[in-house]
Amino acid sequence: MSTTLNAPPGSRSVHASFVPELVYFDPAAFDYPKGQRILEWVKERNIPYRMTTSHNRITDLPGNTEQEKYKIAKRTLVVGIRKTLKFDTSKPSAEYAIPIATGCMGHCHYCYLQTTLGAKPYIRVYVNMDDILDAAKAYIDERIPEITRFEAACTSDPVGLEPITGSLRELIEFMAGQEYGRLRFVTKFHDVDSLLDARHNGHTRIRFSLNNKYIIRHFEPSTSRFEQRIEAAAKVARAGYPLGFIIAPIIWHDGWEAGYTELFESLHKALPKDASSGLTFELIQHRFTKTAKGVIEKRYPRTKLEMDIEKRKYKWGRWGQGKYVYPDEQAKALRMFISERIFEYFPDSTIDYFT
Ligand code: SF4
Repeated sequence: MSTTLNAPPGSRSVHASFVPELVYFDPAAFDYPKGQRILEWVKERNIPYRMTTSHNRITDLPGNTEQEKYKIAKRTLVVGIRKTLKFDTSKPSAEYAIPIATGCMGHCHYCYLQTTLGAKPYIRVYVNMDDILDAAKAYIDERIPEITRFEAACTSDPVGLEPITGSLRELIEFMAGQEYGRLRFVTKFHDVDSLLDARHNGHTRIRFSLNNKYIIRHFEPSTSRFEQRIEAAAKVARAGYPLGFIIAPIIWHDGWEAGYTELFESLHKALPKDASSGLTFELIQHRFTKTAKGVIEKRYPRTKLEMDIEKRKYKWGRWGQGKYVYPDEQAKALRMFISERIFEYFPDSTIDYFT
């Protein structure tokens, strides 16, 4: 069962795992076992599928208006081969972005993929895992004796795709055997069950992107709900993975203090007692560029996301255009309050940064 696009945000207390409504295959994908497996998966579910010559150029997506095409694209899976095996850098949290998927079925109003993926919001997964792993190995070898970290969620949310691809499990088990390699990824999805018994050797850090209920309900449609993410985090902690949380975007709204208190209290109740040590938190306040504001207002015209530049502080960008963040006083209040709650409930954890 899939979630429906027309359901109002937050109308479901449970988010079902992603099932695409349309699938495209690059015929070359059938030369790989993963491509074959995904085809079987698609057939078993009677999902309509088509062939394409290039996973980078899907030109016949259904839909009459831009808005419709966008919604359909977010429910469309494209199965192809990753040809570019030069990895992008992913500083500061990792050295490289490891490409196993591009695009996401979530509808987070503020998502940066809306501007970075432009006209290609459909979801691409790559089946040539051996090529990707060989490239990762070469990057690791190049830097020995330094540790090389790979981020798997730079252009996608791979956990939501895991029941279809199994690619994360392969990456995790590969990295378990790499003395000098580490993997990390972040997710707003709960589909972690198939990862729990993977051999990880402590080399993969799984981070959940969490927020208070108000923000998840209003701004993160088509992602796993508050309780689902917390439950998944507890499972990951019990499976012995290094665990972390990205609290983002931190948004100032009526009742934010109560909302964030509830978040850390719920997390504390759900996680095993010894989870605090080694836990990391990354705190990111809401920000937007002028370009993003334009795209968001077009895609989600009824959004309650506050993007009034008069109420924000302009922060110059080192590359490209600057961003609008909260004025210093508000940012400080958010940082202080949230940091205090974190240390109240998780005294042995680390806050990596607030930005
Ligand atoms: S889950 Fe992450 S990648 Fe997906 S739409 Fe939301 S913010 Fe974007």
